[in-house]
Amino acid sequence: MKDLFAKDMEALHARSLDRHLREITSAQGPEVEIGDRRSLINFSSNDYLGLANEPRLRDAATAAINEFGVGAGASRLISGTQSPHLSLERALAQWKQTEAALCFSSGYAAALGTIPTLVAKNDVVLLDKLCHASLIDGAKLSGAVLRVFPHNHLRKLESHLEWAQREYPGHRVLIVTESVFSMDGDRAPLRELVELKKRFGALLMLDEAHAVGVIGSNGRGLAAAENVSEEVDVQMGTLSKALGSSGGYICGSRTLIDWLINRARSFIYSTAPPPATAAAALAAVDFLASPSGEERRLLLWERIKLMQQLLPRAGAKGEDITARSAIFPWIVGDEKTALDLAAVLQSEGFLVPAVRYPTVAKGAARLRITVTATHKAAQIRELCKAIKRLSAIV
Ligand SMILES: *Cc1c(COP(=O)(O)O)cnc(C)c1O
Repeated sequence: MKDLFAKDMEALHARSLDRHLREITSAQGPEVEIGDRRSLINFSSNDYLGLANEPRLRDAATAAINEFGVGAGASRLISGTQSPHLSLERALAQWKQTEAALCFSSGYAAALGTIPTLVAKNDVVLLDKLCHASLIDGAKLSGAVLRVFPHNHLRKLESHLEWAQREYPGHRVLIVTESVFSMDGDRAPLRELVELKKRFGALLMLDEAHAVGVIGSNGRGLAAAENVSEEVDVQMGTLSKALGSSGGYICGSRTLIDWLINRARSFIYSTAPPPATAAAALAAVDFLASPSGEERRLLLWERIKLMQQLLPRAGAKGEDITARSAIFPWIVGDEKTALDLAAVLQSEGFLVPAVRYPTVAKGAARLRITVTATHKAAQIRELCKAIKRLSAIV
């Protein structure tokens, strides 16, 4: 038994695909401390606005612990719906300008519970090739017929829609995509997607995980920024990235949310998240909706623009595109090369993760650099200098 998985691990290691946990001995922030107490400049986190360790979130969480305790005690439908959950959902719906919202214990749980609630056997799900694992897993779990279209490829999507209409007449068709793709940092052509979904009478689910807090006025996300909120049937997001707390959410119509409460298994059969994480997320939504939140978001965009200016061209996929998000992939291809580069950067004081298969395609390994509002300009300059030097020798 003891050696049952040793061979499997060895095989992973031989392909440079093994993964290991790294201890962080500090709070999240532009600098983090690793196991040996060394401080690294952190370009690995999705805490885009620096809210994970923000005093107003910490205070909100502490106050909620004092009032509501630590655990929620039961699932939401049994006795776990405490006031912070409902306050958060009201605030989320108002912020996203939808009728209603529902929170899950994670974004992953939101996807896994929601997609099977929307579609079933003989319905069709059309997924972008670069969709997050949670969306793929949710789609698989639904039992619906699954078709993947090449990344952002509208013509292929259109032909899939024609095919679905022909082969599965009268059944639901759900298009699933992301506003900002998590490992590439580019955006979906949302207006065109909305046009297609309307033409074919399909449903559209949009995962705004890396867009909320980053894109659109007061960080409302891409659907709001493109003024198509009404047309996006299911707006998914997470409270654990720019919002600095934990949990996932779905925003949409009142009937959608009622249906989810009745059918989404990851919502029904799981204990409610701690009231304190809901209270922290509520503080984050309030902050984002305020002028100081908007100021923080604009500061993030200054940092993004600086990174874009300074990062060598090769760092941005070899293309001269304007930055569309806080995510900058440096695609190097080979898995071992990506690991080696991450190790060199770490020895120079930077935490930049090597992202490999199966998170990205085989042979598309990359360093995934994320910028936050809390980085100092000088830290971004230093990283770009190091990358420039390294990219000349790989
Ligand atoms: C992180 C992420 C999720 C999952 O959210 P969690 O709250 O971390 O579980 C879902 N979709 C995308 C695109 C993500 O990047």
